[in-house]
Amino acid sequence: MQTAYTIILAPNPSIMTGPGTNTIVLGGGGGGNEGAIVIDPAVDDAAYLDTLVQEGEKRGGIGRILITHGHPDHMGGAQALRARLHVLIYAFSRQGVPVADVEVADGKTFPAGEDTLRAIHTPGHRFDHHSYYLERQRILFAGDMISGLTTNVIAPPDGNMFDYMNSLQRLQEIDIAEIVPAHGPTIANAQAKIAEYIAHRQLREQQILQTLETLPRGVTIPEMVPAIYTDVDPKLHPIAAWSVEAHLLKLEKEGLVERIGEKGWTLVEPTA
Ligand SMILES: [Zn+2]
Repeated sequence: MQTAYTIILAPNPSIMTGPGTNTIVLGGGGGGNEGAIVIDPAVDDAAYLDTLVQEGEKRGGIGRILITHGHPDHMGGAQALRARLHVLIYAFSRQGVPVADVEVADGKTFPAGEDTLRAIHTPGHRFDHHSYYLERQRILFAGDMISGLTTNVIAPPDGNMFDYMNSLQRLQEIDIAEIVPAHGPTIANAQAKIAEYIAHRQLREQQILQTLETLPRGVTIPEMVPAIYTDVDPKLHPIAAWSVEAHLLKLEKEGLVERIGEKGWTLVEPTA
């Protein structure tokens, strides 16, 4: 009996990717002849692509390339793999992944051996983000929705906190036995992790509202960050600033904060 999936770690470690991107090979070898699926071939590196092809061959050969979202560390090897195997690249949109051959709508399913893989549209980290859910084995390939390392980065303009929170809430409605993130180790206690993510973002949001209450009207993001991220190395403050901006844009959309002048922010005064 074949394992549900195999993780091949891509040779692209960095501050943003941790040890590298988890590329997934799954399915294949079932009743149909659809072949195996590769999720997120990350880099155009010959030895790494060889490993993917070999793992695919154990499963009857790779039939499809799926991309979670159009960041380079999720699709950097897609074209080279397509050229080798003559298979199609699937992604949410060509706007997000220009090399995609087929656009994948929310809910679309793919045969994956004895199981079925379903696309779940989860925008937020990026507008075109899909997670992929193995229905019978209840495994979620979460891309950058959830990280096995730390909380992931939601950086405008690509990232949208409003959409991201909605996507997390959507995942709360799914019966998930295991999360396989694109970076870091797998997560067994899926719903506890999702709840933790939501609580963490809600706490940050409260801190931002409190900071706007205490600091003068028109305070800027670089002025807010040290007041909120007291426990974080100042070297990481520029990354924290992305997160604060993402939260402010969400709160602006919800009518709770507004801009003053060029770069200032303030609470919306309640109308009596
Ligand atoms: Zn990403």
